[in-house]
Amino acid sequence: MDFSRRGFLAATGLVAAALGINRKAKAAGEPNKVRGRTYVAACPPVTSTIPRTPGPQRIMMIGGHPDDADIICGCTAAKLVAKGCRVKFVAACNGDIGHQTMTRAETAARRRRETLEAAKVWGLDSYDIYGFGDARVPNTIEARELVARKIQEFEPDIIMTHRDCDYHVDHRTIGTLVKDCGYMLGCPHWIDGSKALRRRPLILFMTDLFTVPRLFRPDILVDADPYIEKWCDALNCQQSQFFEWLPWDKGIEDEVAALGDRTVNIAGRNAFLKKYWAKRKVNDAVRFTDAWREQYPGRPVPKMVEAYEISEYGRPPIEEDFELLMG
Ligand SMILES: [Zn+2]
Repeated sequence: MDFSRRGFLAATGLVAAALGINRKAKAAGEPNKVRGRTYVAACPPVTSTIPRTPGPQRIMMIGGHPDDADIICGCTAAKLVAKGCRVKFVAACNGDIGHQTMTRAETAARRRRETLEAAKVWGLDSYDIYGFGDARVPNTIEARELVARKIQEFEPDIIMTHRDCDYHVDHRTIGTLVKDCGYMLGCPHWIDGSKALRRRPLILFMTDLFTVPRLFRPDILVDADPYIEKWCDALNCQQSQFFEWLPWDKGIEDEVAALGDRTVNIAGRNAFLKKYWAKRKVNDAVRFTDAWREQYPGRPVPKMVEAYEISEYGRPPIEEDFELLMG
């Protein structure tokens, strides 16, 4: 399949023309063409024309567990914080089965402490943990409304979350809950006592490798190279995951044993983090080279990128979104 920007443009253009949607969106005066590409107004009513609330841009990165936003979106977070944005990480679960020896309660408590430490390194507004047990995020009305309330409280301009074909059930479920909130976030009478959003957020999906129902589409690429050392600093805060549980889960605990702690061998630990957990960024820089060249003409391809797909469940993107993420 052709996943270049040109290929995607052709595909979306054909779909829009076939459905007559593009013409309708234009008739409504919507800015449905951005950077030469047409965005179909799939989630009515299209609200891109409603201005954002003044103040710094607010970005919410919603993952399944207390390390997903860090691993997948961390460099983008660092970039946005440096630009003056307010960035919030969310973990739907408390991470309580993420250890091979500690009890679930011990693991959840330790992971909360570690995320607080990481939040300081990232410069986050906060790192929220919704507190579902691991593998226990329910796809229920109550869970959907909890997620919606949290989104409405923060009033994000952009949300990043998982696609619903991700490998982990918690990733799939929280991604589904966010998508399922998308339209109703703007409905004043949906949830008693909550604040409906006048302007719905743009929803972006984090990268994954799934092929069914189709491959991830790299609509927006972010150069991760300038922020990878910050990414290492933050991941170093999550000792229980990156130097205990995940190495044990992968069967590479012997490699960790030789590393020593943060005070004596930060270079070795950072090399270890990059080797195993920055792989996705390296792979994406390679598999999305064509997309990079279209999005950043003349700019060398970085070693690592973070990639996002625009969801049709949020508002359509506007130029300001591209400028924020890619500028
Ligand atoms: Zn996870």
